[in-house]
Amino acid sequence: MFAKKIISWYLSHKRDLPWRNTNNPYNIWLSEIILQQTRVQQGLPYYEKFVENFKTVEALAMASEDNVLRLWQGLGYYSRGRNLHKTAQTIAGEYAGRFPDNFKDLQKLKGVGKYTAAAIASFAFNESVPAIDGNAFRVITRFFEIFDPIDSPTVQKNIFEISTDLMKNTEAGNYNQAVMELGAMVCTPKNPSCDVCPVNIECKAFENKSMGKIPTKAKKTKVSNKFLLYLVFEHNEQYWLKKRTEKEIWANMYDFYLVEIENLEYEEKVQEYIEKLKIEVEEINQYPVVNHILTHQKQQIIFVKIKCKSAPALTEGNWYSSGEIDELAKPKIIVDFMKKLKKT
Ligand code: SF4
Repeated sequence: MFAKKIISWYLSHKRDLPWRNTNNPYNIWLSEIILQQTRVQQGLPYYEKFVENFKTVEALAMASEDNVLRLWQGLGYYSRGRNLHKTAQTIAGEYAGRFPDNFKDLQKLKGVGKYTAAAIASFAFNESVPAIDGNAFRVITRFFEIFDPIDSPTVQKNIFEISTDLMKNTEAGNYNQAVMELGAMVCTPKNPSCDVCPVNIECKAFENKSMGKIPTKAKKTKVSNKFLLYLVFEHNEQYWLKKRTEKEIWANMYDFYLVEIENLEYEEKVQEYIEKLKIEVEEINQYPVVNHILTHQKQQIIFVKIKCKSAPALTEGNWYSSGEIDELAKPKIIVDFMKKLKKT
C-alpha cells in the first residue's frame, strides 16, 4: 500500500523538472551529479546550461576542463565538476558513448556512488533498485519509526532491504522519485506536513508524534575554523591570479594570492608579504570579512586590494583585466568579490 499511495500522490503532485521527462541516461546522470548537495532551485539553471552547451556525453567529453569548470562556477564542490568531465571522457572513450545499463556497472564510474547508480538504473533502465538519498532516508525512518542512526552502515543496509521490498512490483523509477519527492515536499526535516501526507494513516512517527526526533545520526560533524587572506594585487587595471594545482582546494581554478592565517588579525601579515614580495604600494583597500560555510569548515576570508606602482615580480600566475577574469573558472568567493569590486 505504501508504494501505491506514494506513487499515485507523486503522479498528481510532482514538480515538473526537465530530467523527469526523459529516460536518457546522460541527462539523468547530469542532473544527479549537479543535484548532489545542491537544492533543486539552485541546480536547475546549471542543468539547463550544461544540456544547452553539451547535448551529448561526447560533446561534454570534448570540452576543455576550463570550459566545464566555468559553467560549474558557483555550484561549489568543484571536484564533482571535474569528475563529471572525467566520467564523460571515460564513457565517450571506453564505453563508446553508452552508459552502463545496470546498478552494478554504473557504480564503477567515477563520482557515481550507490545512490546515483540506483537513480540512473531505475530512471533510465527501470531496474528495481532503491535510490535512497537524504529525503528517502527521512521518509522511511519516520514511516517505520526507526530511531537507529542513519549514518550506520548496518542501518543503511536494513533500509536498503526494506526499500527493495517496498518497491517490488512497482514501476521502479516512479517509486524512487515518489519517495524522494515526498521527503522534499511533505516529509521535510522541520515541520513536516503530515496532515496532507498520503501515508499518514500508517505512519508510525505520525502516530507517536516522534517526527521531530527522526532521523538520528550517531556522529556529529565537527566544524573547524579557517582564516584566509587574499592579497589582490592590482597594476594597470589588471589583477594577478594564479591557477591552483590539481591537489589543492579549488583545484584548477583561478584565484588571487592566498595566505593562510591564524586569526582575523591580518595587518601584520599584509605588511610581511608587502616586504617579502617587494611590493611598491600605491594604495591599500580592505574589505569586510566574508563568511563561507562548508560542511566541515567555517572559512573567514579577508580580501585586501593592493594597488601596485609597478608589477611585482611574482614567479607564477598572470595579470588579467576584469573582462578576462570573467572568462576564467573561479571559486564562488572570487566571483562575488569581483562583483563587489566592479560596483566600487
Ligand atoms: S505522516 Fe508525516 S512523518 Fe509520516 S511520512 Fe508522512 S510527512 Fe513523514
